[in-house]
Formats: sequence, C-alpha cells, structure tokens
Amino acid sequence: MTPELPRARIIATLGPASESSGTVRKLVEAGARVFRLNFSHGTLGEHAISLATVRAVAQEAGRTVAVMGDLCGPKIRVGALPAPGVELGAGQDVVIAAGDSVPAAGAVRLPCTYPLLASEVEPGHRVLINDGAIRLLAVQRDGSGLHCRVLVGGLVASGKGINLPDSRLSVPAITERDWECVHWAVEHDLDFLALSFIRRADEVRLLRSRVGSMCPVERREHDAGLGACIPIVAKIEKPEALGDLDAIIDAADAVMVARGDLGVEMDLPQVPIIQKRIVAKCAEWGKPCIVATQMLESMTERASPTRAEVSDVANAVLDGADAVMLSGETAIGVHPALVVETMRRIILAAEASVAEGPVADSAPARLVETRYRTAALAHGAWVIARDLAARVVVCWSQHGGTARYLSQNNFRVPIVAYSSSARATRRMTLLAGVLPIRADPPPSGRLADWTEMVERDLTRLGLAREGDAAVILAGKPLGTAKATNTISTLRMGDPDGGFRGH
Ligand code: ATP
Ligand code: MG
Ligand code: MG
Repeated sequence: MTPELPRARIIATLGPASESSGTVRKLVEAGARVFRLNFSHGTLGEHAISLATVRAVAQEAGRTVAVMGDLCGPKIRVGALPAPGVELGAGQDVVIAAGDSVPAAGAVRLPCTYPLLASEVEPGHRVLINDGAIRLLAVQRDGSGLHCRVLVGGLVASGKGINLPDSRLSVPAITERDWECVHWAVEHDLDFLALSFIRRADEVRLLRSRVGSMCPVERREHDAGLGACIPIVAKIEKPEALGDLDAIIDAADAVMVARGDLGVEMDLPQVPIIQKRIVAKCAEWGKPCIVATQMLESMTERASPTRAEVSDVANAVLDGADAVMLSGETAIGVHPALVVETMRRIILAAEASVAEGPVADSAPARLVETRYRTAALAHGAWVIARDLAARVVVCWSQHGGTARYLSQNNFRVPIVAYSSSARATRRMTLLAGVLPIRADPPPSGRLADWTEMVERDLTRLGLAREGDAAVILAGKPLGTAKATNTISTLRMGDPDGGFRGH
C-alpha cells in the first residue's frame, strides 16, 4: 500500500547513499517522485547507472517518476582530496591552486577546479567553501597560487563548492562541461534540466534553443506543453538574477530557490524574504517553484530533524512552494528513506492545516492578463469544483499544459491528469497536486467513452465513490494537444451525470 502523497512534491538528490535499487525503491515508496542527478558530483557513467536504476524501479513499481539533471554552471569547486578531506583551523594559511604546483612551506595546499583563480581573485576578497560554512580571506597571490588565511575552519572534502562573492570571474555562464552534460541529458531523455547561477533570462533562452537543436525531431512536439524538448528549471542563486526575475520566470518552465549558493552570494538574512518573493512571483506566472537546500540537513547524520528544519519545510509549503528538495540528505546521508518519509509527513501536516481554512481564489495573475484560454478554463474548473464540492478534478492533458494550469489554482482536491505520452506524464511529477495517468484515449476520441474509463480509475484509486462529484476538463478529439476547450461535470455512478434538474 502506497502512503498518501502530499500535494507538494518531494525531489530527492541521488548519490552514493542512494544508488542501490533497494534504496531508490524505498525513496519512491516514501513519496519521492522526482530524482535529481547533480552533474557537479560523480561521473556521467555513474549518473547513467543511477538513471537506469530509477527507471527500472519506476517500471517495476508502476509509478510515474522523473529525473532532473542539474548542470554545474560556472561554479568553482575544490579538486580531488584524499578522503575524508582536509581539516582547516582558524588562523591557518592555505594556498589554493589548480594542478600540482608546490605551495609555500608551512601552508596547506587546496586543489581547485579553476585555473584562473589566482589571477582573478584579489587580496582582500572572501573565499567561501561548502555553501559558506568555511570562510577564508585572500591575502596574497603568486606563482604558487592564491594564499589565504582561514577565518572559520572545518573539514573540506573533495568537490565542495567555492564561492567568490567579491571577485569578477571570466567563466562563461554555461561552460564546456555543461554543454557535454546537456548533450548527455538530451541523449538520455531526461525529464528536467536545472540551470545553475543564472543571471539573465537570455541564458535560459540560449539553453532552450541549444537543447531544441540537439533534440530528435519526434520529441520537439513537446514545445507545446511543459517546456521544450527538456523543460528548464531556472536556479535562482545570484543577486543579478533577482533584477531580471520576471523575465527569467517567463523564460523558464520551473524555478528553484537554490538557497545554498544564494545564502553565500547574498546577505544570508535576506534569503527567507527572497524565497517568499520568488515563490509568490512564480504563482503569478503559473510556474512550478522548488525550494531547495538544507531543508532537513541535520538528518544527513541523524534520525530526526531539528525543530527549525521542520518549520522550514512546513513554511515553504505554506508559502506555496510546489516542491521541496533534498540534497546531501539523500545523496550522502545515513537515512535517505527516513528523510523522505519525514518530509512527506511534515508536508501532509502543513497541508491539512490549510485545508481547514477558507479557499482562496488564486488564478495566476499573469496568465489572466494574457487572456490565455487553457488557463481561464482551468480557473473555471476551480470555481466549479469549489461550488459543487467536487472530490476530484480530471483532465486530459496530452503535453501537460492543462495539468500545469490546473495545478496553479488552489485546488484542495487531487487533479488527475491523463496523457498517452509517458514523457508528458513524467513531467507532471513536478506539478503540485497532480496525479498523472498514462493511457490511450478511447478509439472514438469521444468524451463520453473516456468518462467511463475515468469512473473506473477514480474508483480503483479510491479518489471518488458513488455519488461524488468530479469536474472534467478536456478537448476534442481526446489525445490531441492544445485542444482543451470543454468543462463538464460528473456524478459518480450516475449515467446521466446526476445533475439534471439540480
Ligand atoms: P549544488 O550547488 O549544485 O547544490 P552541492 O555541492 O551543494 O551542489 P548537493 O547536490 O546539494 O551538492 O549535495 C550536497 C553534498 O552531497 C555535496 O556537497 C556532496 O558532498 C554530496 N554529493 C551529492 N551528490 C553526490 C554524488 N553524486 N557523489 C558524491 N557526493 C555527492
Ligand atoms: Mg547544494
Ligand atoms: Mg547550488
């Protein structure tokens, strides 16, 4: 028996702690429906194995599960160090250098992935490691590398990020390594691509057009629904991005509040406010918003979260986040499945509290402004569902567009979304409250014939019983994209729809 899924989605990062199919199965059972492959860690060969594991588990469990590839972007990282890493103490001297140059006597040497570090970082600049947990100050530079003084120490492990908030670097927004990963993602038909360190909307558009040109012709049709050949998640983690936020959200298919780097690149106390602002803006645009980083961080090593972490997850959901993400907790943590299960229970509790309050009309303002037909129908379905006290909303959403517009209205009841495309149903896993079903439309293409199928599925899934009302959003003929134009109602078990004379 699968536990109840919350409305908000759970994304789990895969890594050494979650590479076995047994663990991935437990993560799916606990409620994860989107898995993140972080291209910043591990090799493409390792990611290919994880991807195959996820797909095999999903197939076997009969669940719709998606995979998101997270591009490294221009992030500089610590190079390879013998495990478990190097312990730095406050006051210590460190030389950071790419390659194998010899450090000055008495200083610890830290390898890094960026060859131009010593020429672009100036004395006086901050050098922050592992999302800012370890802090150094650059003091001097020479042929051996960048000499730094440790201000706040800690254990530095291979691959940890290095942020240089004071320095102007010449790294391109999308690096050669990123393009290699993009190519791999297209080849392996990933469901989402997350773009890190975005500064401007045109970076999202550049990625979209390149992905489009790499994409096989038979997959380009998806442009109509949830994004291009691969939908793009814009990771907001740089102050510059906040200046172009509306355009970035408009250009992307989904947005991630990437608090790890955001909290280092900006004044940390601003992060909660910025998070709320981004979540609210995404709701205006009708785009899914993910809140990420350190949500249940202490569970990387422990069996229970801190009070503050529980509040953080609950508050992200109450703010209206469509998804919450786990990073190190599931990638390298000791209890990956327990963390997902804990997150699911926190979300369910937060959502149950909201369910008791008044229902707010929440049609995405930007979509209303553009007079977009499917969005208007989705909002209409919301009004009807509220007025009829419907138990469920059902749509045929061939490419996922209708499901997305429904999801962006504040439904308190599940949204069941049908498509004959397995790819489209996988993309729906990021949509809050949406339960995707892959099915072929009835040969007649007629709504009445499909309704019989719907009644059977709703009964089987325990979503509605005889006498319950459902609202249905579809188009003619069923299975065609961009055809949504019909709202109807259904009274379960009543051949006339049960609404005559009412
Ligand atoms: P990003 O800025 O993209 O979030 P990150 O370094 O913070 O990068 P996360 O995916 O947030 O990485 O994961 C947190 C930590 O878990 C990483 O710093 C790394 O130590 C570890 N980790 C994640 N994925 C892997 C992996 N595939 N292999 C090894 N370690 C991993
Ligand atoms: Mg991170
Ligand atoms: Mg990041």
